[in-house]
Amino acid sequence: MTTLHQPLTETELLAALRTLNRSGLRGGGRAPHKPLLLLWLVDRFAASGNSETRYEEVAEPVGRLIAQYTAAVSTPDGERAALPFRLLETELWAATDAFSQPLPEQASHRRLLDLGARGRLRPAVEELLGDRRVRDRVRTLLLAEAIGSDTGTGTGSNTGTSADTSAGSSSTLEQSVRDALPPAEHRYRQETRRVRDSRFARAVLPLYGNACAVCGFSGRIGPAPVGVEAAHVHGHADGGPDVVQNGIALCALHHALFDQGVLGLTEHLTIMVSPHFTHTGDHRGPAVTALAGLPVRLPADPGHRLAPQYVAWHTEHVFRH
Ligand SMILES: [Zn+2]
Repeated sequence: MTTLHQPLTETELLAALRTLNRSGLRGGGRAPHKPLLLLWLVDRFAASGNSETRYEEVAEPVGRLIAQYTAAVSTPDGERAALPFRLLETELWAATDAFSQPLPEQASHRRLLDLGARGRLRPAVEELLGDRRVRDRVRTLLLAEAIGSDTGTGTGSNTGTSADTSAGSSSTLEQSVRDALPPAEHRYRQETRRVRDSRFARAVLPLYGNACAVCGFSGRIGPAPVGVEAAHVHGHADGGPDVVQNGIALCALHHALFDQGVLGLTEHLTIMVSPHFTHTGDHRGPAVTALAGLPVRLPADPGHRLAPQYVAWHTEHVFRH
């Protein structure tokens, strides 16, 4: 329970975000600049694992976001992102010039560009944001703060803007934030997943001679296996580990059937076929049914073979009995 690595708690972070020093808007409410910059930074962090950003990257997208939500404020476009970049609370954020020197007070958009200004959320903040649940709560709070500042106290809108509901504005804003982001978080997840999957495949496939453990299919293009995949027995999304004892080489068809619970494995590593499986058409349907009771091909080294707990998990949670 050491506090050395956790100098900021989630509660403290949320409290700090709720009490950002924000100027009042003419029409009522509080300026959304800081919440919007923070939203962008949170997503940047989620996308790259790092919130470090150069002012020149953030100026345009965050400036545009702010412009959308502060129609009443007459800040010149370029200056919009400069304000929160300079003024965001230092307990959350550190901004400097290119040489790690403090930024001059009142630095304009142009000056920040010239100085090569950069900033990064404090490590303690990043550490908390590493937790997806915290990140989601932070996003929700920041969206509410930004929206609240826009639709806030009694705006007798002078031009015919319709009275948005909070929820409606929130989803519009969320979409705008997403549109303004460089790489979407899901793309980062797909990329890391691809890297992880290929590492897993490189470990598992050779143990099976690069061939499907069910049918022996062993396609290649040059030296690279094609149509043969490393399947997790205890699904990765469900907490199954990337260890070879949780992996089996399967061709694309048998991988799909295994993941859908059409195929399963007994504790003796023979094949089960779901009684619910039906098929029409060519010979491949009957060929699946005929697999029942056959043993799968296994790695030569017993230490690399499927571990019983993963097989049992698949039988309980995936296989359609
Ligand atoms: Zn196969």
